[in-house]
Amino acid sequence: MQITSKLPAIGTTIFSVMSALAREYGAINLSQGFPDYDCSPLLSQLAAKYIQNGHNQYAPMPGAIELRERIAEIIHLCYAADYHPDSEITVTAGATQAIYTALTAIVNPGDEVIVFEPAYDCYAPSIELQGGKVIFSRLKAPEFSIDWEDVRKKISPKTKAILINSPHNPSGSTLSLNDLQQLEKLTENTSILIISDEVYEHMVFDGKTHQSVALREGLRARSFLVSSFGKTVHTTGWKIGYVAAPQALMNEFRKIHQFLVFAVNHPLQLCLAEFLKDARNYIELKHFYEAKRNLFLKLTYGSRLKPLHSAGTYFQLMDYSSITQENDTDYAKRLTKENKIASIPLSVFYKEKPEQHLLRFCFAKKDETLEKAADILCQL
Ligand code: PMP
Ligand code: GLN
Repeated sequence: MQITSKLPAIGTTIFSVMSALAREYGAINLSQGFPDYDCSPLLSQLAAKYIQNGHNQYAPMPGAIELRERIAEIIHLCYAADYHPDSEITVTAGATQAIYTALTAIVNPGDEVIVFEPAYDCYAPSIELQGGKVIFSRLKAPEFSIDWEDVRKKISPKTKAILINSPHNPSGSTLSLNDLQQLEKLTENTSILIISDEVYEHMVFDGKTHQSVALREGLRARSFLVSSFGKTVHTTGWKIGYVAAPQALMNEFRKIHQFLVFAVNHPLQLCLAEFLKDARNYIELKHFYEAKRNLFLKLTYGSRLKPLHSAGTYFQLMDYSSITQENDTDYAKRLTKENKIASIPLSVFYKEKPEQHLLRFCFAKKDETLEKAADILCQL
């Protein structure tokens, strides 16, 4: 049987491809973003407790109220913004489902959505599946900052939404207050919506603060704020995230959410709600990852790889152009097979491949893993 593909140009995501290659060749896997250490033992104990205590049936459709209240508290504490847990917060099966659902709720055939490249790989296909058109605006390398003049030119009567992501995967750049002001100015008096992917919100380094859309009333009113507990509490395998948005937007979001997943893993929601009562469990994450970034930079200092600035996330870009001019996908695969170290080539996050020689390394790894990885990298 043959079916007409809805995504004819799309293959398997690079994260699956590189992790599979790392496994096949026994390589150290700094490609797909996930920690190689476990979550807090307390978190596992709480997970077991809620399963053993019989919280094993459906959660309410928008999420366990205990967790929605906790999310409202976290957003209030971090950004002094108030979202109502009943009507403005929904727990999702990770940020991926949150983004897909938000796009499905708002994009009609022919609508345009502005996306910044390099772009996390689920954005464009999720827009195209709704019949929407992706309008790319390229971030200015090597800082990977937004070219607001380019965005202004790309806004049209068909622009339905702008999708932002800070801290940014794959570059590790972050938006500044000025960026949020620019976005607010450009969207003022328009009906343009914003989807703000903030899954790395608690990983901003060097004393800077995360610039959430929740911080600015003008943006909050038109935004779906997306985050994920996978990054924050080292549980990427749990696939639990959330969306916060004004009620009118959330109403439409929930119409789709109820038929896409209905509800999300119930005992784990209750477990997260209890664990996150202690704000140190998310506030202190930035110090943990800043130390990892610094260690990785120190260990690879003196190698022929040139690090770019990572202001947030758990990713570090490295320029390998002093080693070879080979294209990044071939080089990443060769490094995995021959040198036993896996990374992610940056060009996969672009529609038109740029002239760059950059690889993304994930430093959410045990110190000993980073040491072994650096030994290899220093010999290239
Ligand atoms: N957005 C970005 C920028 C990400 O890096 C990721 C993944 N890790 C996601 C969304 C998806 O998050 P989740 O695993 O919660 O679906
Ligand atoms: N977000 C992770 C990364 O960028 C991967 C998530 C996934 O594998 N889908 O590496």
